[in-house]
Amino acid sequence: NLSDKLDNALHVLKGHGQITEVNVAETLKEVRRALVEADVNYKIAKEFTSTVKEKALGQDVLTALKPGQLMVKLVKDELTQLMGGEVEEIDLSGNPSVILMSGLQGSGKTTFSGKLANFLKTKKNKNPLLVACDIYRPAAINQLQIVGEQIGVEVFSDVGNQDPVAISKAAIAHAKQNGFNVVIIDTAGRLAIDEAMMTEIQNIHTAVKPEETLFVVDSMTGQDAVNTAKAFNDRLNFDGVILTKLDGDTRGGAAISIKSVVNKPIKFIGTGEKMDAIDVFYPSRMADRILGMGDVVSLVERAQEQYDEEEARKLQKKIAKDQFGFDDFLKQLHQIKKMGSMKDLLGMIPGAGKMLKDIDIDDDAFKHVEAIIYSMTPAERSTPTLINSVRKKRIAGGSGTSVQQVNQLLKQFNQMGKMMKMMQGGGGQKMMQMMKG
Ligand code: GDP
Ligand code: MG
Repeated sequence: NLSDKLDNALHVLKGHGQITEVNVAETLKEVRRALVEADVNYKIAKEFTSTVKEKALGQDVLTALKPGQLMVKLVKDELTQLMGGEVEEIDLSGNPSVILMSGLQGSGKTTFSGKLANFLKTKKNKNPLLVACDIYRPAAINQLQIVGEQIGVEVFSDVGNQDPVAISKAAIAHAKQNGFNVVIIDTAGRLAIDEAMMTEIQNIHTAVKPEETLFVVDSMTGQDAVNTAKAFNDRLNFDGVILTKLDGDTRGGAAISIKSVVNKPIKFIGTGEKMDAIDVFYPSRMADRILGMGDVVSLVERAQEQYDEEEARKLQKKIAKDQFGFDDFLKQLHQIKKMGSMKDLLGMIPGAGKMLKDIDIDDDAFKHVEAIIYSMTPAERSTPTLINSVRKKRIAGGSGTSVQQVNQLLKQFNQMGKMMKMMQGGGGQKMMQMMKG
């Protein structure tokens, strides 16, 4: 699955300890593969990952605090967009509002008709009427009647009548007379697309002018779903898609392909055989599902933590060997600055609060510190003891600060070094933990 794939991709990332452009490409290749495996059309998956890559590089993922998480967020946001972004309601403005079901046999039209009627009745305070227009199999009418009984919704049928257009019209008239404000027309499907079925549904569509024509599709049918959707959309120009059978571990990649090909919103999903197994379609939740998000996030975080621990270990070694220099200092300050208020952070270090209390590290001071360090030569940065009074003057001049400020920083730096050395072991671990991004 996608998580395993990403796990593999992130091995690279772990090894390098950092996300590089190569890693981004590598990771996205896995995302693409996973999408294809989740039934997303190859071309769409490819376009998708190249868009994400562009955004990733544009947003400086490489230097982000948590590059892995940012990547996951980008992928998720983009997937959500691809599936429409927003929740799409169904049109209930008609009186009655007519909702026409279309789709292949077995896609779940009859079941969904019942679920939708139940949803509208219980959640939207509507008074729906179900209409049995699957005239070819007596069992189909019976099936809808059983559904109607379960949810306490009236079913309009005319056993023996072979004209679904006439039945639909009669049902709408019945609804008007009896105060039903939604009419849900369940129709016949065939196992594959054929002209007779298309003509029939088109005739009903033309006759009743539904507020909503919904295309019902079994999400387990994968790529075939796209072709079916296209064929129905060409004839009916439907208003929305219903993805059924999204229970179990169906990945739901069909959602992306269908949306991309017919450009119609997915409105509901079916997640089981029972009447309450219906959900409004939330693009972002589907993105989570397709990505197996929970796993991905923790996965990426784990990779990131390993990177941080590696850094912390290197740093500790340097401190132990007295090799901690201004470059490291600056790196740490950058890390800490990203984490929020310096004072809050220092307050969290056990026993260090007092020692550091008078070290003034607000934003302005930080800018001075940065400027001073940038004005040092590499040798001065790695061996601060080199910095004599002549060098101090030069550094102060170069950074637009005073010798006094340079002295102050050197003093703070020494204090910090001493403190970190002291804290090596128990407290040091904690400090390192806090210092890592
Ligand atoms: P129709 O031929 O399009 O009317 O399809 P049906 O409504 O008769 O459904 C076909 C089969 O799929 C039935 O056995 C349903 O119980 C089952 N089904 C429909 N929707 C779902 C769903 O969301 N999840 C599951 N697991 N089964 C479903
Ligand atoms: Mg049916």
